[in-house]
This record gives sequence, C-alpha cells and structure tokens, in this order.
Amino acid sequence: MLTRLRLLVSTLLLCGFLSLAQAQQATPVITVDNGPNALVQEQKHYVVLVSLDGFRYDYARKYGATHLLALAKQGADAPEGMIPSYPSVTFPNHYTLVTGLYPEHHGIVAMSFYDEQRKERYAYNDSKTNSDGSWYGGTPLWVLAEQQGMRSACFFWPGSEAAIKNVRPSYYLHYDDKFPDDQRVDQVLAWLKLPEEKRPHFITLYYSNVDHAGHQYGPGSPQVAEAVKHVDALIGKLHASLDALHMPIDLIVVSDHGMAREEGSWIDLDKYADLSNFTTVGLLLYGNSETDIERAYQKLKAADANFFVYRRAHMPAWLHYDQNPRSGDPIIVSKGPYAIRAHAPAADEEDHPPNIGVHGYDPREMPEMKAIFFAAGPDIRPGVTLKPFENVNVYPFIAKILQLQAPPTDGSLNVLSSALADAAR
Ligand code: AMP
Ligand code: ZN
Ligand code: ZN
Repeated sequence: MLTRLRLLVSTLLLCGFLSLAQAQQATPVITVDNGPNALVQEQKHYVVLVSLDGFRYDYARKYGATHLLALAKQGADAPEGMIPSYPSVTFPNHYTLVTGLYPEHHGIVAMSFYDEQRKERYAYNDSKTNSDGSWYGGTPLWVLAEQQGMRSACFFWPGSEAAIKNVRPSYYLHYDDKFPDDQRVDQVLAWLKLPEEKRPHFITLYYSNVDHAGHQYGPGSPQVAEAVKHVDALIGKLHASLDALHMPIDLIVVSDHGMAREEGSWIDLDKYADLSNFTTVGLLLYGNSETDIERAYQKLKAADANFFVYRRAHMPAWLHYDQNPRSGDPIIVSKGPYAIRAHAPAADEEDHPPNIGVHGYDPREMPEMKAIFFAAGPDIRPGVTLKPFENVNVYPFIAKILQLQAPPTDGSLNVLSSALADAAR
C-alpha cells in the first residue's frame, strides 16, 4: 500500500515537473517597461484584434464557422470579403492592417525583398531583419497606443518583434508557430486580468492553421474545413471568456488574404529574359542599369505568358505598387493562380513543386484572395453588413474606438463608420 502511495506521489511529482518544464520551454512573454497606463487611457475600452492567416472570405459560411457567424450576427461583418492590399501575402497585409498604409508606403512590400539603397535583403523569417525596426515605416497601432500612454500587447504579429520608432509593445513574444493554440487565448485573458495600470488596451492574437492547411491541401480540402472549425472553436472560447470578464472589449477578427488552387508548374522568368545582371528575390527583379531593365521588360512582355509585366512607374493604379523601389523594376503580375519565380534553384539545391494552395495575387482579378472582417462589442453597431472594403481602413477604425490620435494614412474612417455604435462615433 505504502509502495503504491509512494509511486503515486512520485508520478504526480514527475508530471508536475514535466508540465513545469514544458511551461518553461514555451516561448516566454517579454515584458517591456513602458510605465503604467496614463490615467486617461485606463478609462478607455479594449480591442482584441485576432488574425486568422489565410482565412478566405467565404470559408465561414462554406465550412460552418458558427462562432464567427455568431459574432457577425451580434456585430458587423463583410460577407463578400475585405480586400487585401497587393501583394496578397502575409507580412505586407498584416502590417497594412496595423498601419493603415499600402505596402509601398509602409515598406514591407513582400515577404522577402531587396533594398538597393541599403544593399540588404529583408526576409520575414530572418530574425535579424524581421526584428529590425529600421525596415518598417508607419506607426503600428501598438506604437500609436504606447506613444499616447496606453499599454499594448502582441501575441504575435508581423513587425511586433521590432522596436519601431524606438517603441515596443509592453508585452510581446518571439514568433513560435508551435506555441499551443489554447494557451494563446489563455495569455490574452491573463493580460486582460492584470491590474488596471498594467493592463493592455490593444491586444493582437495570431493563428496560422488555416493558411498552412490551405497551402498543403488546397482551399476546398477537408483539412481546411477542419482547420476552420479548429480556429472557430478558439474564437468561440475567446468570445465567451471575454464576455465573462464584463469589460468593454471589442473583438475584431480579420485575415490577411484568402487562398486559391494552384495551376500548372513553376514559371521561371529567366526562361524568357536574361536576368544574369539582376538581383532577384522570388519574382522580384532589381536591375543594375536602365538598359538591362528595359531589355528584360521587352523580353518578358514578348513572352506572352501567364503574367503581365510592367515598368514600375506604369503599374496599374489600383495595385498601389509603383512608388517603392523595394518592389523592383520591371514588375511581374500573375494573370492567374500560377507559381512564378525568377530562377529555378541551382542544380545542387533542392527544388520542390509549387504548393497546392496559393495566394499573393490581385484581389480584383481573383476574388479568392479576399479576406475576412468580423467585429462585435460595445463600440460596434449590431447587425451591420459591410460591402467589400480595403484593409487600409481598419487602422482609423481601431484608432477611433480607442480614441487615439491617428496620423493620416491611406485609410479613411468614413469607410467603416457605419459599423461604429452611436456612442463610439
Ligand atoms: P505566406 O503564406 O508566405 O504569406 O506566409 C505565412 C507564413 O508566415 C507562415 O508560415 C507563418 O508561420 C509565418 N509567420 C506569420 N507570422 C509571423 C511572424 N510574426 N514572424 C515570423 N513568421 C511569421
Ligand atoms: Zn498569410
Ligand atoms: Zn500563406
């Protein structure tokens, strides 16, 4: 009996030790001492901004995301989608959502790109560049909040690991895709239970599950249906827990872009034009001289392939992609869901077929690129249905809810003002 008891005690101890070890292993929250909330900020409401990466505008209805649809019923949503900025990829669009600027204005013009002035390359998955504030323009919402004495927290968001304008969120973490999904919600709730002086009023939360399933299995797959249900359950848990706090919290759920099924195999641009004098990153092309650029442009134009090619200065106006040299010149715009790159990998490097699901394309040509917008809470007018709108407009909307002084951006408060409750206008 005694031996059995001892065994039970030691097993319990071991379990306790293991869970402690696991807790210690998980990426820790980094706390930055930005001081207490200013008194005026303590009186304000709270915004929890959740991003479900790659959640296409029609997934909630297609796959029965009941919690998101309940949020729509209680507040506002855009059933025909929110329009991502070009290119419809993760870093540019997340950073547009929190700055109100088109990628060409905030500077994160692609997941990876080259800066000819710096003679350096930015890559989203290189901690040296993604945590270096000098790459990022604009004033992200967490910086805007902190500058005005309001505490903020980021449970992941592109740009949140950098000191931008020398300001960091009061709480943030290094990106870890494997961080348990449930515990992310728990952490957001823990932040909202902090004493008032330490409690963040602007909080971000991020999940990549739906994007990953979309790339690997395609937007129509059972795996995407499952990922949608999974993140929807997390939203349900979060929404119910926020309600139970009885605090004035607005929950806003967005995505960065949608997903389409890829067609064909790789299109290598160097098959059509001599790019040996170009610096290339993905399909971005940076020429050394006007002669090289114009020659490559003419060759690529003559290729009559599955892409448009433009000199940067002549990019279609609606793409807002002609101002920043980081976008390269000439610029390739795909005509459909095709996988395009400057070169195939070198012979000694591994190649792989394109993903089954893809994004990055012009949302006006390809509606599958459209994203989601759901919002509910004390500042949101109930039962509002929004027509498709550009994601640059989310920034002034959130700044208004938090009554923060916002700088001029590419977005306008008018676009989403119909979704604001009377008291919030
Ligand atoms: P993409 O599908 O190429 O647009 O990019 C999505 C990828 O970005 C996913 O693999 C995510 O894991 C990754 N990602 C998302 N947020 C971050 C972040 N804050 N830091 C680094 N990588 C991220
Ligand atoms: Zn994404
Ligand atoms: Zn993706």
